[in-house]
Amino acid sequence: MEKVVIIGTGCAGLTAALYTARANLAPLVFAGAMPGGLLTTTSIVENFPGFPEGIDGYELMTRLQKQAERFGARVQFGTVEAVDVKSQPFKLTVDGEPLEAETIIIASGAGHRHLGLESEDKLERKGVTYCATCDGAFPMFRNQPLVVVGGGDSACEEATYLTRFASVVYLVHRRDSLRASKIMAERTLAHAKIKPVWDSVVTEVLDVKQDKVTGVRLKNLKTEKESTLDCAGVFVAIGHLPNTQLFKGVIDMDENGYIIPKRGSETNVPGVFVAGDCSDHVYRQAITAAGMGCAAAIDAERYLAARNQ
Ligand SMILES: Cc1cc2nc3c(=O)[nH]c(=O)nc-3n(C[C@H](O)[C@H](O)[C@H](O)COP(=O)(O)OP(=O)(O)OC[C@H]3O[C@@H](n4cnc5c(N)ncnc54)[C@H](O)[C@@H]3O)c2cc1C
Repeated sequence: MEKVVIIGTGCAGLTAALYTARANLAPLVFAGAMPGGLLTTTSIVENFPGFPEGIDGYELMTRLQKQAERFGARVQFGTVEAVDVKSQPFKLTVDGEPLEAETIIIASGAGHRHLGLESEDKLERKGVTYCATCDGAFPMFRNQPLVVVGGGDSACEEATYLTRFASVVYLVHRRDSLRASKIMAERTLAHAKIKPVWDSVVTEVLDVKQDKVTGVRLKNLKTEKESTLDCAGVFVAIGHLPNTQLFKGVIDMDENGYIIPKRGSETNVPGVFVAGDCSDHVYRQAITAAGMGCAAAIDAERYLAARNQ
């Protein structure tokens, strides 16, 4: 039986692996469909402490995995398909194979909702992005018109943040008012650099032929009229999907699927801990995910020590 099984090899999972490995717990870590997690999809990470020149996302995650393995973490390809945490030992199914564990750390992350456009996929990381805090400061976006798609709190936050860099921020929303909280909506709309584009959806990101973002094609849902808007970047802020479907009905989560920790990283099931973006809809950063991974590892270690006294 495994002492610690960690689901996910993003910043949260691998940091939990590092800490539990250094506590001699030889964690078994499953990478799922995205080994290294979301950060491997970005070229340069400029805000992870300790790298004044920035570091390639893939390289950072490779180093973190090596660091955890150095102390005995066992990182494996494999997707956790089912869990049964009704009684100890917990039972998991990984790629069809059964496994038992005393503790589980869920670090399965969250994906971004996409617009669902072919041009969006083709221009991802070439001007299409899903995180203003991560990418907004890139030189390609400075003093340029930018588009934020969405109408909730996240979209408002992204738009406001981008006003530091952009010449103008167009906030494209499918309705004629924002879904965001009243105070956030008022503050956003009062900003001189933010221009709302109401009742509109992006139907195409331009320009795939040039291999970079030069604008968006819009459709007004009320008038059916099409138009184009020049911009250097498109920030999609229409929500996130936590990878937590596996735990529905078993582990407490909010209406959007984010796991709700009880105390520290503890979930409602003793012995099951959570870390990273699958339980964080506020910060969603590499360093916060790593910090939560550290906390989950320490909580798991203390749980095992108390259990095996
Ligand atoms: C393009 C982009 C750029 C970014 N840039 C920055 C940046 O510059 N700075 C910054 O701080 N943050 C950045 N972020 C955000 C950062 O990547 C995330 O906050 C961070 O990766 C969250 O870590 P995590 O470990 O919680 O989840 P993730 O990194 O999403 O990792 C989740 C892991 O869980 C695995 N998994 C999921 N389900 C299963 C399963 N059933 N079985 C096994 N494994 C499973 C996945 O395969 C993956 O390995 C960026 C995000 C994106 C998308």
